[in-house]
Amino acid sequence: MSDKKGIAILGSTGSIGTQALEVIAAYPNYFDLQVITAGKNADLLIEQALKFHPNSVVIGDEMQYTKVKEALWDHDIHVYCGEEALCQVVESTEVHTVLTALVGYAGLKPTIHAINAGKTIALANKETLVVAGELITRLAKEKGVNIYPVDSEHSAIFQCIVGEFHNPIEKIYLTASGGPFRGYSAEQLQGVSLEQALKHPNWSMGAKITIDSASLMNKGLEVIEAKWLFGLKAEQIDVIVHPQSIVHSLVQFEDGSMKAQMGLPDMKLPIQFALTYPNRFKTDFQRFNFMDYPQLTFESPDRKVFKNLDLAYRAMHENGIIACSLNAANEVAVDAFLNKKISFIEIAQLNETVVNSFTNILNPNYEDYVISDFNARKKAIELIGN
Ligand code: NDP
Ligand code: MG
Repeated sequence: MSDKKGIAILGSTGSIGTQALEVIAAYPNYFDLQVITAGKNADLLIEQALKFHPNSVVIGDEMQYTKVKEALWDHDIHVYCGEEALCQVVESTEVHTVLTALVGYAGLKPTIHAINAGKTIALANKETLVVAGELITRLAKEKGVNIYPVDSEHSAIFQCIVGEFHNPIEKIYLTASGGPFRGYSAEQLQGVSLEQALKHPNWSMGAKITIDSASLMNKGLEVIEAKWLFGLKAEQIDVIVHPQSIVHSLVQFEDGSMKAQMGLPDMKLPIQFALTYPNRFKTDFQRFNFMDYPQLTFESPDRKVFKNLDLAYRAMHENGIIACSLNAANEVAVDAFLNKKISFIEIAQLNETVVNSFTNILNPNYEDYVISDFNARKKAIELIGN
């Protein structure tokens, strides 16, 4: 076995996945890329495989298996397809850390497999913790597995508590850019277009998280993600809108002291920290200049207009299966919005209707999550119609 760190990237063709590959390419003596996986983008997966020579690749879309297999047949790279293969490749003995950079509920099962196999998790796929935070954190504890956050806000919190693990957190503040519709009234939100929603002011990301950022669902998902990652109560997690996206989040300790982590918005930094922790490697990333940002501003989020954030707090307070139903409804709603089947404000309306349609299940097991996800999706699809 090599003494380099074996990495598996689930979702290497996405926004986080491609940036993770840039990080890995920068430190060839430290990382050993073992596995990359894609959903549908076979061409990019092939290009990445030819450049990085991983041990295995997985294409989610089974229709594209032959194409990938033929392109890589004489390169000594194993090619697999489908959901089960994702769960198996993460278990390889050569893999030390699994970066979960696929989007949505699809991340849950491979993450469970990776934890069961004792792999360190670099978690970008926040939906996994939103859906099944209770199960995932229990399992990680049982297996002695560390979950390092990739999400910039959670990486910020993590960076603030390194060296403070014995000091309880009083409160955390997750910062939010506010997205393209910051300051909009409920009436103004009615008329917004898909193109406007896809234009995030500060970050370039995949389509789903970009829409979630515009609707503040992303911040709602992050609040739930933080609860599980840092073992906090709902009352200990606050959201503050910070349009410049320079302060990535803050921790307040029990003596009243606050620590913030700052920097220009660039996901490569939190990706790298999750992969190299406890080390910090030198980078040539652009450095922050105070004079470019003479004013850093903060304001309260409007939870009456952006109802998704309220819904997420409710899910967090009530525990059980609600966050799983909320996530499923939201995945269907965002997909429908991206396909112009519903309007922007209908995303939050649909989420609320679906969440209200089910009674909560406390202390859910894996089957409960699978069934609740299925039922919530079905309900959301029925509500959207055709
Ligand atoms: P993208 O949509 O850009 O990429 C998603 C990746 O997952 C692609 O490689 C895609 O493959 C793959 N994929 C999608 N669906 C499936 C599936 N059903 N089975 C297997 N693979 C699948 O998303 P992002 O990179 O933006 O986000 C990834 C995760 O990271 C999300 O959970 C997001 O919330 C989180 N995150 C992202 C941030 C960002 O800056 N982008 C910041 C913080 C968190 P393909 O394209 O080949 O179909
Ligand atoms: Mg984030």
